[in-house]
Amino acid sequence: MATKLKSPKSKAAKPSIFSKKAKPAKSLSKKELAKPLIKVKAKKIDFFDVLAALKTNYPDAHCALNFKNPFELLIATILSAQCTDERVNIVTAVLFKDHPTAQSLARLKVEEIEEYIRSTGFYHNKAKSLKNCSQILVDQYGGLVPQTIEQLYELPGVGRKTANVVLGNAFGIASGVVVDTHVTRLSTRFGWVKISDAVKIEQILNELCPKDDWIMLPHYLIAHGRAICKARSPMCNKCFLQTSCPKLGV
Ligand code: SF4
Repeated sequence: MATKLKSPKSKAAKPSIFSKKAKPAKSLSKKELAKPLIKVKAKKIDFFDVLAALKTNYPDAHCALNFKNPFELLIATILSAQCTDERVNIVTAVLFKDHPTAQSLARLKVEEIEEYIRSTGFYHNKAKSLKNCSQILVDQYGGLVPQTIEQLYELPGVGRKTANVVLGNAFGIASGVVVDTHVTRLSTRFGWVKISDAVKIEQILNELCPKDDWIMLPHYLIAHGRAICKARSPMCNKCFLQTSCPKLGV
């Protein structure tokens, strides 16, 4: 036996709250309509929100290594591996006073350089790098620091990070975002990266960040990493990113 189907019209005929003449509701923007009803904790924080907040909060962020020219920054950056910037600045204040040029540093014996830089750690290898690096600068570049990442990368003791530091901060050339432990830690906490390989992290940050901000981004992140988002005990309760940081409380 055929079942008599309800006419859709009969449902529509029921009294409805919408049939009352009500005030038209305020129309919502597309952005408001897209908002989820339940706030879901984000897996990552928006890059541009962070960049804007960091710029506002650390307007004076800068390279913490003391230097007067590209040569000094190159040497200071090589020494900064596994060492604090404060310690490097103490060491280079004496080293550069006595040996301010590549020519002068190249003339020293490795053992003599070691005496200057012993407190920075790994001083045997660093001393060899400083001597050989200075010698190459003298032999191939007239004692000056080259300005391409390929040329810098060929120098003893210089990796991608050091090359990016020197090009960015001594020459104003944006060759890539400098990735150090602070940059790695904060990028991971923000959900921007899920890897620890510095070269891959640099590639991701180079994609995320406008090239105009490549040089300053690490300085902002390092400033925040030192002041608030510390490695062992981040001060989330004092952090201006706490409302949106996926790692609040870590
Ligand atoms: S909320 Fe905590 S984990 Fe997130 S950036 Fe701030 S200090 Fe770091």
